[in-house]
Amino acid sequence: MTLIHGDGIGPEVVVAARRVLDAAGAPIDWEEAEAGAAVFRRGVASGVPEETVASIARTRLALKGPLETPVGFGEKSANVTLRKLFETYANVRPVRELAGVPTPFSGRGIDLVVVRENVEDLYAGIEHQQTPDVAQCLKLISRPGSERVVRLALELARAEGRPSVACATKANIMKLTEGTMKRVFEAVAAEYPDIETRHIVVDNCAHQLVRRPEQFDVIVTTNMNGDILSDLTSGLVGGLGFAPSANLGADVAIFEAVHGSAPKYAGTGTANPAAVILSGAMLLRHAGLDAAAGLVERAVEATLADGIHTRDVPGGDPVSTTAFADAVVERLGTAAGAAPARARRPLAIPRIDDAPGRAASRAVVGMDVFVEWGGTPEALGASLEEVAAGTVLRLKMISNRGTVVYPARGATPSLVDHFRCRFVAADGIEPTDAELLSLLWAVGSRHRWMHVERLQRFDGERGYTLAQGEDAA
Ligand code: NAP
Repeated sequence: MTLIHGDGIGPEVVVAARRVLDAAGAPIDWEEAEAGAAVFRRGVASGVPEETVASIARTRLALKGPLETPVGFGEKSANVTLRKLFETYANVRPVRELAGVPTPFSGRGIDLVVVRENVEDLYAGIEHQQTPDVAQCLKLISRPGSERVVRLALELARAEGRPSVACATKANIMKLTEGTMKRVFEAVAAEYPDIETRHIVVDNCAHQLVRRPEQFDVIVTTNMNGDILSDLTSGLVGGLGFAPSANLGADVAIFEAVHGSAPKYAGTGTANPAAVILSGAMLLRHAGLDAAAGLVERAVEATLADGIHTRDVPGGDPVSTTAFADAVVERLGTAAGAAPARARRPLAIPRIDDAPGRAASRAVVGMDVFVEWGGTPEALGASLEEVAAGTVLRLKMISNRGTVVYPARGATPSLVDHFRCRFVAADGIEPTDAELLSLLWAVGSRHRWMHVERLQRFDGERGYTLAQGEDAA
């Protein structure tokens, strides 16, 4: 297995986890590899050197410490690079109430898993500075990408005997992107009549998680929702120090704590290694080493139940990272006879048909052109009406950050220098590329445009949303 120590507290918690896994008798050949801050400093823009990629491609299993992400400009996140390179499309984040870790929710029996889509959504990181004042991030959600993570969540529920799966999206607002996951979930759920399934709006999901977390077994969700919800669920059981995770793909699995490099604790020997140790247990189970996985989990639970914990658990007399790992190793023997927390079958990683989708009919109905503009909507509208005169397209409306500002609708949103100008063809007329490009050329002769979208209908359904205040016709 590939072992990456990572940054910040990474080396301390990963070394502790390796000791525990070795002591549990797991037959592992570790192959140490590098990624993260030191690699960025050597000028490798991805933060992941070729040798590390080759090692994971060979072993197909990795345990990794947290990797620091440069904030803002410049390099990409090494974590996201690894997820995308190996297409580990599902991030499985279980949390369970632990005896000896008191929280406001103690006694409620929290035992749930967040399954987060791991490679799409805003985390594709496709961003553009469009005008001096406006930046854009593309939120890409695909049908196959949604289907495989939804199926994985349902398979996980079956494998672990969890009775229900909730799909949390913001489909009420983002009907096309978040709506894709909702629609796929509802279609695929029909194939799992043994699992209770429901859709829940993600903000209500956050609210419900704090009010009645015990109602959830599995939550499947899009990437950014899952990132936020799973930190929340970690907090319910005592914090990030107790939250393990698995990044699963068809061929490669990478295990890591949910937490980051917690730089303020780096080198202090106080970080909680439980999340990485429990990630190691998930790795053992994934590799078919169930007995060793159970042993490690029971030993962590027994250690905490005996009142031994690191600084992040309130009260008592906290021990160091190393002392916590020592205590877990000591309890490996006594934990051997304990019953497993839940009976599990191996998780079948679903393979889906990801052949490109087809629409029986498709029609181009117009074009959105985004332009930079510092004047009034009326002046821009008058100019673009002139541009479109005599073409097959007409200016239907102009919006600013999604709200119609031309023709005037009475709303007075504060304006930024980024206007979306919607041109549409008359009913039944499909503009050609030449007609669209010649209009774009004409717009560009008067205004600075930076982005253009074809407006399409798929099987008669509108493949774009209306602006606030825009008529459907
Ligand atoms: P973080 O490293 O997860 O730390 C946030 C807070 O969580 C810490 O300040 C600490 O809380 C607590 N914490 C985290 N791990 C802990 C542990 N093992 N034991 C005890 N307490 C722990 O999040 P961040 O500060 O936002 O991110 C730091 C860096 O890590 C960033 O560069 C980020 O991009 C990166 N990151 C990497 C990964 C990854 O590799 N998968 C994931 C997330 C973030 P208190 O302050 O309350 O003590």
